[in-house]
Amino acid sequence: MKKSDIVISILSIILMCAFPAIFLYTRNVGEAELYEIFMPILVLLFIAAVVFIIIYLILRNVVNTTFCTLIFILIFSNFAIVEDIFKSIFNNLKYWHVLEILLFIFINLVIFIYKKRSSNKLIQANKVFCIIFGGLIIFNLILAIPNIVKKLGAESNNASIEYITQKDEETTFPNFYYILLDEYSSFSSIKKYYSYDNSQFYDFLKDLNFNVSLDSHNDSIDTITITTNILNLDYVISDGDGLLHAEKMKYRENPPMFDLMFKNGYEINNYSNLVSWDGKYGSIPDSYDSVFGDFMKMVLDNTALYPLLVAKDEMVDRQNTLILLDCLKQTYESSVTPVFTYAHLAIPHAPFVFDEEGNMTNFSELNDWKNKSCYLGQYIFTTNRIEEIVRNIVTKDPDSIIVLQSDHSARWTQDENGNEIVLNEDARSVLNAVYYRGEELDIDGLTNVNTMRCIFSRLFSLNLPEVEVNF
Ligand SMILES: [Zn+2]
Repeated sequence: MKKSDIVISILSIILMCAFPAIFLYTRNVGEAELYEIFMPILVLLFIAAVVFIIIYLILRNVVNTTFCTLIFILIFSNFAIVEDIFKSIFNNLKYWHVLEILLFIFINLVIFIYKKRSSNKLIQANKVFCIIFGGLIIFNLILAIPNIVKKLGAESNNASIEYITQKDEETTFPNFYYILLDEYSSFSSIKKYYSYDNSQFYDFLKDLNFNVSLDSHNDSIDTITITTNILNLDYVISDGDGLLHAEKMKYRENPPMFDLMFKNGYEINNYSNLVSWDGKYGSIPDSYDSVFGDFMKMVLDNTALYPLLVAKDEMVDRQNTLILLDCLKQTYESSVTPVFTYAHLAIPHAPFVFDEEGNMTNFSELNDWKNKSCYLGQYIFTTNRIEEIVRNIVTKDPDSIIVLQSDHSARWTQDENGNEIVLNEDARSVLNAVYYRGEELDIDGLTNVNTMRCIFSRLFSLNLPEVEVNF
C-alpha cells in the first residue's frame, strides 16, 4: 500500500464530508456563522468513520474501503434528493422503501468489490472524487468571498439620535407594551382569504378604548425589513437594497426606538432575540434552546437523517411561545421607573403548532398552507391569548400604552391546486391597534413606522412628522 493512496483516501473522505456544510455556508454567508459548519462536518465524518471501519473488516483494503465509504457518504448526504427522484418515478414509495433499496444496492456493491479484489481502478476513482470535491469547495469559497468581505466589514448602524428628550422632573411616563404578532392577518385579509370574520376582536379592542386602523399597510412582506424599519422609526432599509442579512441586523443593535425610550428614563424589557440593546440580544426568561439550530438543520435536511429532525425545533419554539405569552401577563403599574416591553411573537406565523384551542396539531400540517384550517386555527388561538393579555394590562395598568401590530398578513396561502393566491397588497395589509392611556389617537391608514412616530410625538412632545414610503 503506497503512502499516497492512504493520503488520497483520507483526503477524499474529509472533502466529501466537508462539502455539504461549506456549500450551504457559502450560499448563506449573510445568515450563517462560520463556526456553525463544524458540527455538521463532524457528524458526517463520524458516520464516515463508522462505515469505513465496518467495511474495512470485510474488504481488508484501504483503497477499496475508501471507495465504498465515498459512495455511502455521497448517497447519505444527498438522500433527500435521491428519494425525490425515486418518488417521481414510483409514486407510492415511502422513505423506508428508498432506504432499503439503496442499502441493497450498496451491499451488493461491497460484495462485488470483495469478489473482484483488484483496487487499481478504484485508486483512480478516489482521486477523481478528491479532485471534484476539492474543486467544488474552492470554487464555492471563491464565489462567496465578496459576501464574506462585506459581512466582515458590516458595522453597527445605530443612527445617532437627534430626538430631544422633553422629560422634566415632574413628568412620569406610562409603561409601554409593544407587541408584534408575526404574520397576523389584517381584518380585511383574513376575511378575503379565509372567509373569517374577525370583527369580534375589533369590537373587543374598541371596547377597551384601543384606536384601530383598518387600512394600514407596510412597505414589504419581509419580517426583517419591516421590523428593522419600525425599530428605526424610519425607512432605513428596503427589500431591494442588496444588503446582506448580517448587514440588516446591524440596524437592530441599540435601535432608535429603544434609545428613545431609554433616554426618557425607561427600563428596557427586551424579549426578542432579533434585537440587541446594550450589547445583549433579548431573550425569553427560562426559554429552551433549539435542538439543532437553523444551519445544522439545513445541512441534515438533505441527509438520510432528515426524519429524525421532524418538528424537534418546532416543538421548542412552541414551548418558548407559550412561555412568552405567560411573560406578557406581567404588568408594571407599581414600578417606580416606567418599563418598555418589546415582544415579537412568532405566531400565527408557520409552523402551525397550535390549533384553535392551543393543542398540538398534526406533524404533517406544520407548514400546510393549502389546508386553510391550519393557519386559521393558530390565528384564532393567537387572538384569544392576546385578548387575555391586553385585557389584563388595561385592567391593571390603565394609564399604559399598548401597541399591537403585525408585520404582514398571511403570505403563502394556497388554493386547492397549491398555487399561492395572496396579492402583495393584501399581504402588506396589517393589524395596527394602539391603546394610548385610554385616549384617542388618530392612526388611521398609518404604516407601522408612522404609527410609532405618531405615538412618540404625543408621548414625548416631539415633532416627528410622517415619513414617506414607496410601496
Ligand atoms: Zn413576519
